Amino acid sequence: MLTKAPKGTMDIKPSDAYKWQYIEEEMRKICKQFGVKEVRTPVFEHTELFQRGVGDTTDVVEKEMYTFNDKGDRSITLRPEGTAGAVRSFIEHGLFNEPQPTKLFYLISCYRYEKPQAGRYREFHQFGVEYFGTQSPAADAEMISLPWTLYKRLGLKNLTLNLNSIGCPKCRKEYNEKLKDYLKPHYDDLCETCKNRYDRNPMRILDCKSSICKDIVKNAPLLIDCICDECRDHFENLKKYLTAMDIPFEIDPLIVRGLDYYTKTVFEITAKNENSNGTICGGGRYDGLVEELGGGYVPASGFALGMERLLLTMEEQGIEILDDNKLDIYVGHIGDENSFFAQKLVADLRNCGISAERDHLGRSVKAQMKYANKLGVKYTVILGDDEIAAQKAKIKNMDEGSETEIELSAQAIANHIN
Ligand code: ATP
Ligand code: MG
Repeated sequence: MLTKAPKGTMDIKPSDAYKWQYIEEEMRKICKQFGVKEVRTPVFEHTELFQRGVGDTTDVVEKEMYTFNDKGDRSITLRPEGTAGAVRSFIEHGLFNEPQPTKLFYLISCYRYEKPQAGRYREFHQFGVEYFGTQSPAADAEMISLPWTLYKRLGLKNLTLNLNSIGCPKCRKEYNEKLKDYLKPHYDDLCETCKNRYDRNPMRILDCKSSICKDIVKNAPLLIDCICDECRDHFENLKKYLTAMDIPFEIDPLIVRGLDYYTKTVFEITAKNENSNGTICGGGRYDGLVEELGGGYVPASGFALGMERLLLTMEEQGIEILDDNKLDIYVGHIGDENSFFAQKLVADLRNCGISAERDHLGRSVKAQMKYANKLGVKYTVILGDDEIAAQKAKIKNMDEGSETEIELSAQAIANHIN
């Protein structure tokens, strides 16, 4: 037990870490280009934040949260997602007093008590972005374009952007009545969860995974056909902005987010692979959330995507990530007395911005070079008595096999390598 990670968790091994670093770097880069700044919030929050922020009719809150009482008898929950914490932080620090919009991103670990399977873990990682303080459909389009552009840059293929509008609390109220009228004759056939949703949140029934419920809702009225003029206008403009950016989309009237504070835009990005067709990103507009969590009225929208599923999809699509953490130079030495010189050169090289290593196991020079080869270094140099006396050494380019004799100083070597 001591040597096994808890169920549903996994280590990112040193041999895989470069993939995460590469993806995270691309995420940071694109956020910078979009003017999106990072927010870092605690791993745990007050349980109530998620009950209100994620919604207590959702699977996440009903079944999946890691909730416990701490030693001070406070109910604490490990974050199952990032939006609630970002919104709490936005309110707590009065970011709405700054010129708007506020654009935030997070790269975080999340915790959900789920049945572990491929692409589904108990600890997983999310990248998410939130736009606060703007109601503009252009902001929605830009926010949606961020993960789309990111996926394209990472080389993903067969992507579909599915789009829907779920209106505002005003138009949704009328729609809920319509939907309930439609569902009434089928009430007894609904699954237990959906019977419960019938009064609390009928729209979520459209989202049910049970085949009986799926069948029942097949001919249900669609919210997209009933939204008010303002919501329709917003949706039409969103489509125009996406088209202006050459981002293709499909309308999927069954995407729902059945919570009151979700408004207008909802979207998902799916990636079609040989054996799967999974949602790899989801988000939308939530104009009511900041108020729900105790702030004033601040319109907002955002998305979250799962890192593990992104990596799985890249793997399935055969996208290779190059490991560019390769060492620049391995400094070999002959004889114990030259070990000090090797250590000094490695230290100086690092101060010149070069990645350098030397032997720490008392290997023979032959074994040192064998090890350097294994590391896949770009250059090697060997320090013997002659080199040190002459202050000159041969730098070997390992890719080309060529050797160049240069002055034995860190700066000269760095200039040669760069
Ligand atoms: P699903 O329908 O697969 O359960 P979800 O609706 O619960 O997904 P969101 O809450 O929208 O997912 O989270 C956003 C993203 O986080 C998902 O698209 C997915 O990539 C990732 N994700 C969610 N739950 C997990 C998990 N248990 N393990 C790994 N990734 C996850
Ligand atoms: Mg889920």
